[in-house]
Amino acid sequence: MAVLVLGGAGYIGSHTVDRLVEKGADVVVVDSLVTGHRAAVSDKAKFYQGDIADQPFMRQVFAENPAIDAVIHFAAFSLVAESMKKPLKYFDNNTAGMINLLEVMNEVGVKRIVFSSTAATYGIPETMPIKETDPQKPINPYGESKLAMEKIMHWTDLANGIKFVALRYFNVAGAKPDGTIGEDHNPETHLLPIVLQVAAGTRDKLQIFGDDYNTPDGTNVRDYVHPFDLADAHILAMNYLREGNESNAFNLGSSTGFSNMEILKAAREVTGKPIPTVMAPRRGGDPDTLIAASDKARKILGWKPEFDDIHKIIKTAWKWHQTHPNGFADR
Ligand code: UDP
Repeated sequence: MAVLVLGGAGYIGSHTVDRLVEKGADVVVVDSLVTGHRAAVSDKAKFYQGDIADQPFMRQVFAENPAIDAVIHFAAFSLVAESMKKPLKYFDNNTAGMINLLEVMNEVGVKRIVFSSTAATYGIPETMPIKETDPQKPINPYGESKLAMEKIMHWTDLANGIKFVALRYFNVAGAKPDGTIGEDHNPETHLLPIVLQVAAGTRDKLQIFGDDYNTPDGTNVRDYVHPFDLADAHILAMNYLREGNESNAFNLGSSTGFSNMEILKAAREVTGKPIPTVMAPRRGGDPDTLIAASDKARKILGWKPEFDDIHKIIKTAWKWHQTHPNGFADR
């Protein structure tokens, strides 16, 4: 029994590989290293560099590792703002990539996949917190590319018996508590790493994208979840499929919302730094508020997130930033 982790050198993928090897799993990683980092991958996992849409390459990976019985798929682009400008890049890499992958999985008879979906599939929610059964009407190409992946998987399950779990993440923040792996995007676009770059003095100021949203302080409200807890959810979801359960979708969030201003305040408290800011126009594609109802994952998968406190999450990210101001280049 081995698990194939696609995108295992990325932010959430590397935390999941780390948790899997810690639990003694046999892990094979594929990553193109377009956005991932080789140094983020545990040396206890077998590593292949390549593209998941390259079918001859993927056939070879499966052929060389016949013990693979489940796939955890993180290999996708995930920037809302970029997707608004380059929708085809998202439909090609995320959606078409999934089709190529499913064709090979079907050929080789691997019938289980856990895959990263997103809160962005819900668009502008009608009620809060968001339940898995709520309407999915994305307002950006990123969310649309992931919703298409969910639908493709649904029909592939019916026709070919490939069982899936779609994990709809909310906002991910934090690093491994020992500070050895963390978030490293180039260019960085996410709120918390940018806040911490300003705290560390490697960036001048934080731009806050919009203060006229329909929220208590006018800035967007998001639900933050730690990659360590996400990693556990993937392992639980893989085991759920290995036990022979039906395909399913789960929200993964803390069920608590923080506005961008509240994140800034908490980061000032954790770092003790002033963190200068400037108001900037809205960024395209951002809904006012996204908060998860995550009781389904808790109930069915037995998921118990450990990082339920935003200060604790920021503390782990701050440790990573302080010890790796240049990300994995510092390892
Ligand atoms: N944001 C911001 N300034 C930045 C980066 C992000 O105000 O420099 C805001 C963004 O508009 C959103 C929130 O922070 O309201 C979270 O954005 P992020 O890109 O971290 O995650 P996303 O919600 O796009 O997955």
